[in-house]
Amino acid sequence: MAAWTDEELERIYDSTSGRCHLCGKRLAWTNYGAAKDKRGAWHVDHSRPLARGGGDDLRNTKPACVSCNCSKQAGHNRTIRARHGRTRAPLSRRRREEEKLKQGFAGAAAGVLIGGAIAGPPGAWVGGAVMAMLAHDHDPD
Ligand SMILES: [Zn+2]
Repeated sequence: MAAWTDEELERIYDSTSGRCHLCGKRLAWTNYGAAKDKRGAWHVDHSRPLARGGGDDLRNTKPACVSCNCSKQAGHNRTIRARHGRTRAPLSRRRREEEKLKQGFAGAAAGVLIGGAIAGPPGAWVGGAVMAMLAHDHDPD
């Protein structure tokens, strides 16, 4: 097994906002490589297994909880994700923020239209602010 630097581990962990890329479970940063019974214990999983030609580069490495990592072996991400009702890995921290911003803007625009239609300019301002807040709280997953 490759030895990862803290910086690499951080990038791998952040690539899914600290969730297992197969089942979406939250992982505990400090329990990297910990025993299976530790809460949030995780391993670095090769998205495409080394046995099937995957590499050690950061694009091919994703955090996975110990039980997913063990049950995957040389199997396919899709099989394990399907078992958990998922079709893709959780979003990275940055992508998550981008999605939230986009939803916030869309929500603000809708709020301006609705609020403006009901109460004129002050309504547009309040409607925009409220809708942006609501949209921002929405989890993009
Ligand atoms: Zn998992």
